[in-house]
Amino acid sequence: MNKTLCRVISALLSIIVLQIVCSATSYEGTTFYYENGKEITVFDNHLSYDEKKMIADYFAYGTIESEKSSIECNTRSSILCTLFGHDLTTTYVREITHNAYPDSPKCLRSEYECTYCTRSSCDYIENKLIYSVRISTCHG
Ligand SMILES: [Zn+2]
Ligand SMILES: [Zn+2]
Repeated sequence: MNKTLCRVISALLSIIVLQIVCSATSYEGTTFYYENGKEITVFDNHLSYDEKKMIADYFAYGTIESEKSSIECNTRSSILCTLFGHDLTTTYVREITHNAYPDSPKCLRSEYECTYCTRSSCDYIENKLIYSVRISTCHG
C-alpha cells in the first residue's frame, strides 16, 4: 500500500469516528409551548418534528399524573407488533408546568423516560417518571 492511499484511508476513518462520537453525545432537544402553561421538551435525534410533537401533545393533553411512576397507554397496535412484539426505543422528555402551585416555588419540572414503538402503525407509549421538582427560576 502506498503512503497517499494510507493517508486517505486514515483521514476517512477519523471522520467516521468523529461522527459516531458526536451523534452519541448530543441529544437534540425540541421544545413545544402549550396554552395550558406547559412547556414540553423532547430529546431525540431520530424522530421527525411531527413525531416529537405527537409525544409532546401526549404529555400536554394526556392524563398523566406525576404521582404515578408508570403510565401505559395502549390503544392501537399493528399486526406486526402483535406477532413480533413492539419495536421499542427510548427517549427523554422534560415537562415544565408553569404556575402549577399558587405559592413559591410555583412551577413544576418533571423528567420522564419515554419508551415508544417506532412502527408508524402503532402508538404504544409508556412514560416513567424519573424525578419531579418544584422550581422558582421562571415565575418565582
Ligand atoms: Zn408497536
Ligand atoms: Zn414558570
